[in-house]
Amino acid sequence: MPASYSLSVEQVSRPVLPHGTGLLTCVFLSSLLTAQTQVGRPEPLDAIYTARYIVTMDPSRRLIENGAVAVRGDSIVAVGRRSDIDKQYQARQRLDRPDAILMPGLINTHTHAAMSLLRGIADDLTLQEWLTKYIFPAEAKNVTPDFVLWGTRLACLEMMLSGTTTFVDMYYFEDRVAQAAKEAGMRGVLGDRRFAQIHRGLYPAIQERPAHCGHRSAARHLHEQR
Ligand SMILES: [Zn+2]
Repeated sequence: MPASYSLSVEQVSRPVLPHGTGLLTCVFLSSLLTAQTQVGRPEPLDAIYTARYIVTMDPSRRLIENGAVAVRGDSIVAVGRRSDIDKQYQARQRLDRPDAILMPGLINTHTHAAMSLLRGIADDLTLQEWLTKYIFPAEAKNVTPDFVLWGTRLACLEMMLSGTTTFVDMYYFEDRVAQAAKEAGMRGVLGDRRFAQIHRGLYPAIQERPAHCGHRSAARHLHEQR
């Protein structure tokens, strides 16, 4: 059995298995048997993505040069050297990026995404001056559910362009932030209660809304632990 063959079998079984269970052995053997019958016959897949470097977040933090990622449906079924993946799989779709880095998505842990629409209204000031003289008054005049929806849509596009796939947001009308995140296919940890508490009195529209927040502790933590 060539080294590349055994490497691929191990990786196919790893992502779907709880460690330390009988299932592990069972599915691993089943994969092994299935793979053994397919030597010389590449397994069909939905997609193979290749890149100069694959950055993994597995326990050994492997960095794979000339690597590839094999995908079936919405699951990664194997990560390894391009030559190994190409031997074992044949995909309906393929994307080769010989100069690129392929890595897990970045996580932005502190956003007020809709504020992308306020970009540039005042710069080079202290935080307090910037907030109290420019941002708070601008928000009081402009922040509405539609403002948040469109501002977050813009922010999601910009985040995805730089490789961010998850963001932790705390602003107003977080249901609209959720809508924009869902449209973009991004993952969001969203909560607006803390902001509503901080700025009570500034925004009549917000005062009328019941606080709704699935992750209010995230917003509280990020604004109080400084
Ligand atoms: Zn903040």
